[in-house]
Amino acid sequence: MNKRNLQKELETIISDNSKKGIFPKLLLHACCAPCSSYCMEYLNRYFDITIYFYNPNIDNKNEYLTRVEEEKRLISEMDFVRKVSFLEGEYDPENFHKLSKGMELEPEGGKRCLSCYEMRLLKSAQEAKERGFDYFATTLSISPMKSSQVLCEIGEKVGKIVGVEYLPSDFKKKNGYKRSVELSNEHNLYRQDYCGCSYSRRSRV
Ligand code: SF4
Repeated sequence: MNKRNLQKELETIISDNSKKGIFPKLLLHACCAPCSSYCMEYLNRYFDITIYFYNPNIDNKNEYLTRVEEEKRLISEMDFVRKVSFLEGEYDPENFHKLSKGMELEPEGGKRCLSCYEMRLLKSAQEAKERGFDYFATTLSISPMKSSQVLCEIGEKVGKIVGVEYLPSDFKKKNGYKRSVELSNEHNLYRQDYCGCSYSRRSRV
């Protein structure tokens, strides 16, 4: 399969909307404040963003609450051209445990992760549809550990099922990851050293 230039696709959408003077509503799924920092900085000039925090894969409530609070703090501290809103999803870890059964020993990036992406993207698509958003997307593609091509494929699949458009994106481009580290330092953000689930916590280096 040919690799798509997702950054170019995103830039085309942005440019088309800008020419029409349109600022579409984007539900942006966020896994944590550090990953969302650059995505919000980049996209808030072009979209009306609502950050959607739905991450039942996080292995314990304290970690979950810390990430939620950091996300809210970051939104309140950053200077945006257009207002960014926050929406918290349900913390329903049983949903993640059910789907990861039998895949506990999979390496990071393996089958368990694909199901985990799909769980979060499906829920994001459903929320986006219900609330009348034009697009949904995820900050997950900023991680050097995660394939934006795979995320886009899953996003478009669930978007088609639900009836809402996935915004093609690869936030690693334009030095997105590097900028997210700078913004995390500027805002003194809590940066976890594992992806989220108990399996990733055990295999951290
Ligand atoms: S490593 Fe990350 S993406 Fe993979 S299953 Fe765990 S929380 Fe989900």
